[in-house]
Amino acid sequence: MKELDLDAILNGGKESENHKAGFVALVGKPNSGKSTLMNAVLGEKLAIVTPKAQTTRHRIMGILNDEDYQIVFSDTPGIISPKYELHEKMMRFVEKSLEDADVILLVTSLDESHDEEDAIDKLRKVLEKRKIPLIVLLNKTDLVSQDVIEQKIARWKEVLNPQEILPISALMGVNTDQLLELILKYLPKHPAYYDKDMLTDRPERFFAAEIIREKIFLNYEQEVPYSTEVGIVEFKDEPKIIRISAEIHVERKSQKGILIGKNGSALKVIGQAARLDMEAFFGKKVFLELYVRVSENWRKKANKLNWFGYK
Ligand code: GDP
Ligand code: MG
Repeated sequence: MKELDLDAILNGGKESENHKAGFVALVGKPNSGKSTLMNAVLGEKLAIVTPKAQTTRHRIMGILNDEDYQIVFSDTPGIISPKYELHEKMMRFVEKSLEDADVILLVTSLDESHDEEDAIDKLRKVLEKRKIPLIVLLNKTDLVSQDVIEQKIARWKEVLNPQEILPISALMGVNTDQLLELILKYLPKHPAYYDKDMLTDRPERFFAAEIIREKIFLNYEQEVPYSTEVGIVEFKDEPKIIRISAEIHVERKSQKGILIGKNGSALKVIGQAARLDMEAFFGKKVFLELYVRVSENWRKKANKLNWFGYK
């Protein structure tokens, strides 16, 4: 398998100076047409689609590769108003993946009247912190009249004033080419984040780390997940089983205690849940070992690259 080209990532290496790459976050209510849109845009160029959507920092759904660009689409959990502690955590997740995005696509459905206040609030907050290009997609043009489309365009201009508003029909493939052009217009110049030909061992490691991180987010209180980084130290893909060994780095000793729990009980919960997801994800048996380490400075070193597992 080809190794990921770190030089290319860090220095712009082989690719042309004008190469573009970045993360595009897809948000929107269930049934707005996100999956349909993904399929329409990726089409047969599809390089990677995760078999099972994961709630991760970058919940990767698909990568669209071309000689001059790499678009990494990531889905996020649907935006909801938090009713439980778990929802709060999920929403912090959404915020995080939105904040990390280079372009945000809000997918809305034209045939629904609801106003998606939660999504609007959330996006406003994120965009206050950092200006991220926002493209609002009015999906399902095939179901409504031109009047409805125009009303919605006016409304979205008023409430979010996004960079772009584009009516599309993901199902009929209407305006999906224009969408690609718009994404490229806002995508930063950057070398590719992932190997362009195939799913290398890097992304697989990356997914493994993300799955573990997801379980930590779902099982611990606020500051523990944010003090945590996951590194995959071994990833052995054998014919019948994948052997994965991972280190969970925390900042303080007290956090290590919390993560491990009494007699290792808390870590066991994480490990089991992560293993089951990994088995579904990789379609194979997984043997997972988890170690917790205190490394005081990881946060200072944390940058986009090591979130991706490029360590
Ligand atoms: P998701 O939950 O946001 O991923 O939504 P899906 O992609 O699963 O789509 C939800 C439903 O809307 C499915 O029945 C799709 O076939 C339908 N749908 C998606 N896009 C369109 C569209 O452009 N027009 C019409 N008529 N239906 C669509
Ligand atoms: Mg879907």
